[in-house]
Formats: sequence, structure tokens, C-alpha cells
Amino acid sequence: MSENMQELVDTLHFGEKVERAEKLLKEYFDKYGDQAVVANSLGKDSMVVWDMAVRIRPNVRGFIVTTPFKPKETKEYMNRLVAKYPSLKVYEADRPLEKIYETDVDKCCDIYKVEPVKQAVREMDVKAWITGLRCTEGRTRTDYKEVEHRDKDLVKVNPILLFKEREIWQYMAVYGVEANSLYRIGYRSLGCTPCTAITASDDERDGRWAGTSKCGGECGIHTRPLKEDAVAS
Ligand code: SF4
Repeated sequence: MSENMQELVDTLHFGEKVERAEKLLKEYFDKYGDQAVVANSLGKDSMVVWDMAVRIRPNVRGFIVTTPFKPKETKEYMNRLVAKYPSLKVYEADRPLEKIYETDVDKCCDIYKVEPVKQAVREMDVKAWITGLRCTEGRTRTDYKEVEHRDKDLVKVNPILLFKEREIWQYMAVYGVEANSLYRIGYRSLGCTPCTAITASDDERDGRWAGTSKCGGECGIHTRPLKEDAVAS
């Protein structure tokens, strides 16, 4: 993480981080209108961004990518959320269920996560995708910026990049955001059932793909270009 970023994480207080995130969201809603779309993974971080976005722009559009391997608690939570916010669209790979994760987790994530995200970006004509990435979440997330240009004609906006885990829970308590019930039993980062474990590790994402070389890693939506003709960030 750059020194500047670490300093901001450590010195800005909760209220300043919320204000900064809201300012960034407003800026991109003003710039792109309906083409600024929130990617909602149904985790605590996404829910904070979603709540901020809805407060600023009540009819904001969003998308959720689900897989056949998501826990039933996450599916129930998703169904309640989509019923409440019809502007949230659900995407899922259109193919028969295969347990590809048993032999190749990268290929499985590619098919069931990355491809549906690409489809969402294409079909919803997204120009700015807004995420819940945080730079203190794990070893793979330290080098992101609040605004990134990784794809041609697609800007990525990370409004809560500077939030610590504690400040996410602070936001949810203060603004009354319902959390996925799986957090109650000890999960700290949520994914598909076969690839997510409860751990006592200090690293928030260590329960993801635990026991594989991908442990604490990424499914690919934040590390791969989402559009054809991609450019490097
Ligand atoms: S998290 Fe696991 S089950 Fe889900 S898409 Fe990736 S490899 Fe497949």
C-alpha cells in the first residue's frame, strides 16, 4: 500500500471517510447518471456502498452475480434485497451445474463469476462500476486506488477503499443496514459454500479458498479486464 493511502486509512476518522465516499459517489453519479452502476456481492462492504448509493440516488442501478454454490442464507438475503430494490439485477451463469471447483477453482470462478460480471457490464451498458473494495481487507487488495482505469470505456470506483473492517460495522450499526446472517456465526468474508471457511486468522480474507494456493485471493473480477480491448491500469 502506498504511504499516502496508509496515512489516509489511519488518520481520517469515520465521519470523514463517509463524507469522502459520498462525495466520490455523487461525482460519478453526476458524471455518468444511470451508467454508474453498483456491483453488489451481498457482503458487508458491498452493503455499505449500496446503502450510501441508495441514499444519494434512490433509483440507482446495481447487479448481483450469484452462483449455484452460494449458501442458502446468502440466497435468502439476496431475495429479500432484490424484492426491496427492483433496480438490482441478478446475473448467473447459464450452464448446467458442474463442480468444477473440485479440480480447478480458477476455471470455476471464471465461469460462474467473471463471465456473468462481464455480461452485466455489457447488458447494463455500464460506464462506471462501483465496488466495495477495501485496501485493508487482505494481501491482494493493498494496491487499489479509489478510481481506476483498467478497462477501456469502463472506470472502476471504490468509494470505501479507506474503510477499516471496524468502520464497516460502525456504518452498518449507525445507518441500520441489515447484514447477512452468516456473519453471526463467525464468517468475515463471504463467498460460495465450498470455498469459504470460518477462520481465526487475522487476515479478513483467509477463509476464502482456504487450503488452496488461491487462499485469501481473488475470484478474478477485480484482477481481470471486464471488457474487450482492455487497457492496463
Ligand atoms: S468461489 Fe468456489 S464455487 Fe464459487 S465460483 Fe469460485 S471456485 Fe466456484
